[in-house]
Amino acid sequence: MNEIRSQNKTIGFVPTMGALHSGHLSLLKKSKSENDFTICSIFVNPKQFNNKEDLEKYPRNIEDDIEILKTVNCDILFCPSEEEMYPEKNDEIFDLGGLDKVMEGKYRPGHFNGVAIVVKRFFDIIMPNQAYFGEKDFQQMRIIQHIVGFNKMPIQIVPAPIERENDGLAMSSRNVRLNQEERKIAPKIYQTLLNAKEMAINCTFSEVINYVNREIASIKPFKLEYFEIVNIQNLKSVEDFSEKKNCIACIAVYLGDVRLIDNIILF
Ligand code: AMP
Repeated sequence: MNEIRSQNKTIGFVPTMGALHSGHLSLLKKSKSENDFTICSIFVNPKQFNNKEDLEKYPRNIEDDIEILKTVNCDILFCPSEEEMYPEKNDEIFDLGGLDKVMEGKYRPGHFNGVAIVVKRFFDIIMPNQAYFGEKDFQQMRIIQHIVGFNKMPIQIVPAPIERENDGLAMSSRNVRLNQEERKIAPKIYQTLLNAKEMAINCTFSEVINYVNREIASIKPFKLEYFEIVNIQNLKSVEDFSEKKNCIACIAVYLGDVRLIDNIILF
């Protein structure tokens, strides 16, 4: 790694938890096209799971992942053990600027601090020039941008758009846990977001909120955890559509015991 840096070559870093799909590949391809070397990490980080069962059931398939990484000529795969990542107790508490208090942070206490710990550790080890994060996890991406800015780390955070299945379902490692019936229903999450985006042009804020709540409640296996419209920069709740800019709608829905998240920029 030091050799790469001493030659003034750039390192692009794509952190993942494995069970790779085309969403991950889009980040890897972007990194490949923008850097001399691309490193992908695969590490299912226990510190970011607030639910033991979710951690245990998280899909793991390293053999398949290696084959997938070969298709994009990923230069280095870094697959550390828990002991390597956390040789000592690491319970650092991060100042996340309040960005962790809403949405995912509200429903998954400690999640973003766990993400911050692992990402900081990876950044310290790899020292990439650029690190790639998907907008599928929009709040996570904003929080990482905050950490890098707050700690003045010389790393550029590069966001990448959400990759979707043909029927609109946002790609996720957790999708493989959906049964056939759930998989058929799952794209309705994105369809509802698309409708909300269209409604937002002419309807009031409450009309859009009510529509999404009603729609998701009407589709039986769905259990809505949250639907929130927030400012794209500071993630603060938006109260109305008077400005018609910088608004992103974010949703978390349970389908059986699988938790799915998605989002859409309204304007
Ligand atoms: P994960 O393995 O779920 O931790 O995700 C690793 C990275 O891939 C994160 O930056 C995610 O935001 C990104 N990612 C996951 N799914 C998608 C997707 N459907 N489209 C774009 N990026 C994604």
